[in-house]
Amino acid sequence: HIKHSALRLHDELAKWRADEQRDLVFEDRLRAAVEQSRFELHYQPLVDLCRMDVCGLEALLRWRTDDGEWIPPSHFIPVAESSGLIVSLGRWTFLEACRQMCAWRDAGHRPVPMAVNLSPREFGQPEFVHSILGTLDAARIDPRLIEFEITESTLVENMDDALAKMHALAASGVGLAVDDFGTGYSSLSYLRELPVCKLKIDQSFVRSIVHDRKVETIVAGIIQLAKNLGLTTVAEGVETAEQLDILRRLGCDQCQGYYFARPAPAAALPMLLAGSPVR
Ligand code: C2E
Ligand code: CA
Ligand code: CA
Ligand code: CA
Repeated sequence: HIKHSALRLHDELAKWRADEQRDLVFEDRLRAAVEQSRFELHYQPLVDLCRMDVCGLEALLRWRTDDGEWIPPSHFIPVAESSGLIVSLGRWTFLEACRQMCAWRDAGHRPVPMAVNLSPREFGQPEFVHSILGTLDAARIDPRLIEFEITESTLVENMDDALAKMHALAASGVGLAVDDFGTGYSSLSYLRELPVCKLKIDQSFVRSIVHDRKVETIVAGIIQLAKNLGLTTVAEGVETAEQLDILRRLGCDQCQGYYFARPAPAAALPMLLAGSPVR
């Protein structure tokens, strides 16, 4: 029996070392990619349900490897977080989004609000707010065109620091949205203290809203809560007309999802930005 356990332990250690080795190799590849800026931003429209036009874009990171393979963010963001690489990757992302906004502006397009995802670790950087505002100033971008999407985990990790930074950003006009709303474990009381302007209802709710009355009730509750607090609601991951109908009936303000448009490279967007109806 002891011999059997020892063998199993041995196997597990070997597997653990292999995993660790693979993680390190992956981390090295990611580090090289960050150094060489092997990333691209794709943009997904947010659609205003009253006007049925594009009211914003969310910037989403894409990593293209040397072999032309695309690695999805769900794969590399966690590694970027744990290794700290997210700090330089996040800085690149924000600069790239700003560069793109300037390019569209120079091409004569109307200004479109840009949403950028933030990881807890980026937000924790002491110089974060200073650096963001400096970049916007240098690029002559109105801070009111920028919205950061944070998850509830950002709030849980260092509430006091997060609170101070959010107030500083909000004071300059930068918007804040709570991403994946409804999936975290934090209490709702933070909504009282935070200068948040938007709740993004998580895709998992949208996915089951058509067939699950309980989910519909939860989403109705979130939308009412948001309305009473003066917050804008966005439903993520809208893929069908049925989902859209329910969300519209519940009074959701904005939607985002494959039903309207998939995330796409900047070159594919000017048509959407021209202000024509989306569907
Ligand atoms: P998220 O912020 O919740 O972004 C929404 C995700 O849902 C995106 O996946 C988007 O492509 C996908 N999506 C949009 N519409 C639909 C739909 O109708 N159906 C389905 N099934 N999916 C839809 P993506 O681009 O793979 O990003 C995954 C996550 O990676 C993001 O989730 C975000 O948490 C993170 N991420 C992406 N870019 C960045 C970034 O620049 N910085 C940070 N910190 N995180 C990022
Ligand atoms: Ca997001
Ligand atoms: Ca989300
Ligand atoms: Ca998410």
